[in-house]
Amino acid sequence: MERRDFLKKAGIGAAAAVAATAVKAPAVLAQKKYKWKMVTTWPSGLPVLQTGCERLAKLVGELSGGRLTIDVYAGGELVPPLGIFDAVSNGTVEMGSGASYYWAGKTPAAQWFAAVPFGMNAQGMSAWFHGGDGLKLWEETYAPFNLIPRPGGSTGVQMGGWFNKKINSIEDFKGLKMRIPGLGGKVLAKAGATVVLTPGGEIFTSLERGVIDATEWVGPLHDNRMGFYQAAKYYYYPGWHEPGTYLEYFFNKKAYESLPKDLQAILDAACMDNEIWCLAQFDAQNGAALVELITKHKVQLLEFPDSVMDALRKLSKEVVAEEAAKDAQSKKVAAAFEAFQNQVGPWFTISEKAYYDKIFGKYSLKG
Ligand code: CA
Repeated sequence: MERRDFLKKAGIGAAAAVAATAVKAPAVLAQKKYKWKMVTTWPSGLPVLQTGCERLAKLVGELSGGRLTIDVYAGGELVPPLGIFDAVSNGTVEMGSGASYYWAGKTPAAQWFAAVPFGMNAQGMSAWFHGGDGLKLWEETYAPFNLIPRPGGSTGVQMGGWFNKKINSIEDFKGLKMRIPGLGGKVLAKAGATVVLTPGGEIFTSLERGVIDATEWVGPLHDNRMGFYQAAKYYYYPGWHEPGTYLEYFFNKKAYESLPKDLQAILDAACMDNEIWCLAQFDAQNGAALVELITKHKVQLLEFPDSVMDALRKLSKEVVAEEAAKDAQSKKVAAAFEAFQNQVGPWFTISEKAYYDKIFGKYSLKG
């Protein structure tokens, strides 16, 4: 077909298309654009945790065609790291990201949605949130604060921590000065340790100067970056205190509810997308970081003895019961958590665990 003929034939259609555009254009232009702020508890540039928030913001912008844009602020850039709960609750900003155990002082029940010593791992937590009553209970727990929570991904099982003396029995925790937050810290305090909450940026110096004897952080990827191998000899596993720590996103209720339904759905979908991405990063990168710690930095990898794990499990049960007794919501959430763990546990034992035992056996990554 000649170009001239084509244009002639296309003429009517093109004119109609222009007319349609002209009719539609005002409706498109009238679509309101939303500009949100997200504040986080994470240091600027922290891999996976902070970079994941930035990834989520980018995704929401793309999925919404720019109708919802989110500017992300790391901890301290707009509000202090532990000020984000209040900032989103009172509507100063629309969205936050942290880990729910930071808010134990606001509502003790929040702790069960992040990490419970000897509780569920990442797979169990995900099943609880998306297949059980976990997310519903979380929403209920945050509702009095005008907040709507969403699971933000898991770190997987964390590491047990960095020590300069061997932990051969539960008695070895007596008098030990260790940086360990949350319920795990309460457990070690019961074991006789002096528990401190050194901020992230000061842990290395404290450990190096002997202000603290031991610390936990996250896992090989993040611990390697912190350089703890220069200040401690022994790297213990497993992270009984944080078996599958879940991170969170939360929205100011009024801000979320003022969005059109499609933008609410985009936000929800982006959170779930990032939830999968987050655990994938930890799973993909922790192994290589651990090998580097052992081979390059000559770290000695040690497993907590069974007797220590048994004693810690017993103390953890006491701590969890004490926390659950703090108010009605904590009691309700703790009971639901335990019931769900008992429901999925036996199945995981004959599926995941049995399979792991067969394919990996007892690992030999000793330093
Ligand atoms: Ca930790």
